[in-house]
Amino acid sequence: MLLMGSYVTITAAGRDAGPAIDSAFVRLEDINRRFNFRDPASPLHAFNLRDEPFADREIAAVIRAALDVGEAGGGAFDITVQPLVELWGFYSEGRAVPDSATVESVRALTGRDRVVVKGDSVGKLVPGLRLDLGGIAKGQALAEAARVLREAGVGSALVDAGGDVYALGRRQDGGEWRVGVRNPRGGGIVAVITVSDRAVVTSGDYERAFTAEDGTVYCHIIDPRTGRPARALASVTVVAEDPVRADAWATALFVLGAEEGLALIEATGGVEALFVTPALEMRHSSGLAGRIAIDSLP
Ligand code: ADP
Ligand code: MG
Repeated sequence: MLLMGSYVTITAAGRDAGPAIDSAFVRLEDINRRFNFRDPASPLHAFNLRDEPFADREIAAVIRAALDVGEAGGGAFDITVQPLVELWGFYSEGRAVPDSATVESVRALTGRDRVVVKGDSVGKLVPGLRLDLGGIAKGQALAEAARVLREAGVGSALVDAGGDVYALGRRQDGGEWRVGVRNPRGGGIVAVITVSDRAVVTSGDYERAFTAEDGTVYCHIIDPRTGRPARALASVTVVAEDPVRADAWATALFVLGAEEGLALIEATGGVEALFVTPALEMRHSSGLAGRIAIDSLP
């Protein structure tokens, strides 16, 4: 199935694997719809278009995690950037570079401090505020697929949503899972990360980017502090137990870049990262030592 634009595969072993995989896909279809603000079946649709508050336990919990990472990442992760993503044309064909005055006026419509979550209820402090969970929803999908598989008794599985992966347990032969990190500038991989019971999630500038007339490449991740596409990295890969946090941190670190990102992640427990700069230099957090094999690049 297609999940938020990526093809999903689930590989699982064991007697109960078939039905467990089917159940996981049912859950993924549900998340795919309910977390997509463009789908009228999602409460985010009415929230964005008609300023209608809503109550939804699962979405509220993900928004809470998003606001946490927003805070911890100094504002680099912001689920209210939707009007900016739209301005830069990433939802449509009309991709063009807007002028600074327009960027500033649209940026004024955003702000994660204007989202209110109380229990299961989600509201906004100003009309017109719009949510986009595209930077975190795939993490929830990975988390739920893993939960469904585990509850069905599956002890070994790999869930792969277009390179964003959850590695459950160990491989059939008892070894840990080996997850490749794609070369953001060409074919092949730049590193292999060895994990079990971890999410490995990448944010990169190679998907959904456009090249302006002057040759500048603009990608679909916006720096909320400037209102412009982030440009510090080619990709960043995050390893964490919780896929939701992994996904949000990948987007946040992509905005922050290697220098600031590495400092922050070293001070944050349980989240590790590999940064690949536009010059294809690689740096990783100390917690990946012994778990990462960097390939020498051509
Ligand atoms: P992908 O979905 O391509 O794997 P990400 O997880 O990094 O990549 O999410 C990118 C999506 O997140 C964008 O398409 C947009 O919907 C949203 N987004 C863009 N910039 C930000 C940001 N600074 N904070 C939170 N969400 C963002
Ligand atoms: Mg993300």
